[in-house]
Amino acid sequence: MNAKLDTEQLYKDNVLGNYGLPPVTLVRGRGLRVWDDAGKEYLDFCSGIAVTSLGHCHPNLVEAIQKQAAALLCVSNLYRNENQAKLAAKLDEKAGGGGKLFFCNSGAEANETLIKLSRLYGQKQSGEEGKRYKVVCAENAFHGRTFGGMSATPKAKIQDGFAPLVDGFVFAELNNLASFEAAVDDDTAAVFIETIQGEGGIYPASVEFLQGLRALCDDKGVLLLIDEVQCGVGRTGTFFAYEEAGIRPDAIGMAKGLGGGVPIGAVWIDDAYADLFGPGSHGTTFGGTPLISAAALAVLETIESDSLLEQVQENAPYVMERLRRLQSELPEYILEIRGSGYMIGIQIAESPMDMVALLREKGLIVPPAETDVIRFLPALTATKKDFDEAIALFGEASKERSALIRKSATA
Ligand SMILES: *Cc1c(COP(=O)(O)O)cnc(C)c1O
Repeated sequence: MNAKLDTEQLYKDNVLGNYGLPPVTLVRGRGLRVWDDAGKEYLDFCSGIAVTSLGHCHPNLVEAIQKQAAALLCVSNLYRNENQAKLAAKLDEKAGGGGKLFFCNSGAEANETLIKLSRLYGQKQSGEEGKRYKVVCAENAFHGRTFGGMSATPKAKIQDGFAPLVDGFVFAELNNLASFEAAVDDDTAAVFIETIQGEGGIYPASVEFLQGLRALCDDKGVLLLIDEVQCGVGRTGTFFAYEEAGIRPDAIGMAKGLGGGVPIGAVWIDDAYADLFGPGSHGTTFGGTPLISAAALAVLETIESDSLLEQVQENAPYVMERLRRLQSELPEYILEIRGSGYMIGIQIAESPMDMVALLREKGLIVPPAETDVIRFLPALTATKKDFDEAIALFGEASKERSALIRKSATA
């Protein structure tokens, strides 16, 4: 037998330190559960950060990937493949029809495509390249780590050290329509926001705000670009989170949950603007391969066949009610609960990392957000029972952290 692999040492020696040193090695997953290399079981409310939307190793997804792997993996976009065609048709239907799809590999790359769309649009509207190029984004946004995405993400933590950034990004206050109105001028090509800010700490755009933005964009002739990379693909109980507002965006970026765990990004663009990307204007080697498209198709089919949107809608009020009850027991520690469906942010009275570690010890994996938020982002397959367990562990841990903080305050 080999000695147990020392992944910690191998990480220290060989993996770039941009994520810090991850604390445990996970080796296996099943549904809402994952196990580490010591055999410890965890309830997974992180889901690869809203990625494993069907839970781990869902049989439909496993079968689709295995079958496609044995048939055809990759043919480039110089040739057609059936899975990409089917996936595009399916996603266009989800977006309300009348649009076109572009496939890529990540959320940042999807957003990069949206930003490039805004440049093409501004150039066409103004008749001059580099003229109408500004994009109005929200304060506290997160749009990814590429130069475009990072420039649309107004955070020192993310931008520091990388100047000069991409020019033209302007920021306004989320849910403050007047602030966006003031930020849009003759040089503006697009407004670009997350329906629910994810990395920023789970701050939803309100229905009235989204409707107001749509009207503003129509009025000013600027594009409304929506980043649904984290909140899309069923996470809130509708396929896209913006659906609650009844609006139609001009283009949508998606990624995370769409592949159920394989890397994918996708952009939907309304037919009115889709032709701005002519032949040769954009591309990516791995976009929409037979393999990845098969996985995404399995995710979409399973969301339908297993009524996962309905399940999220049904369980969400119960979960919110339980969390609010817990908050009322510990108001000094649990400051606010925000979100929609299975995209929940719990604002706590301290920086989240100690709480994340304590929850992990207790067998619950969650991602933090910003300086004081714990997120619940379980698979769409999570049941009331899974939430009961997560909330019980969260309650226990909150009591311990809260007592510790009180003690150190009086010490
Ligand atoms: C995660 C995320 C991104 C970036 O996606 P990557 O796949 O990490 O590049 C962009 N926008 C939002 C809203 C995200 O949550």
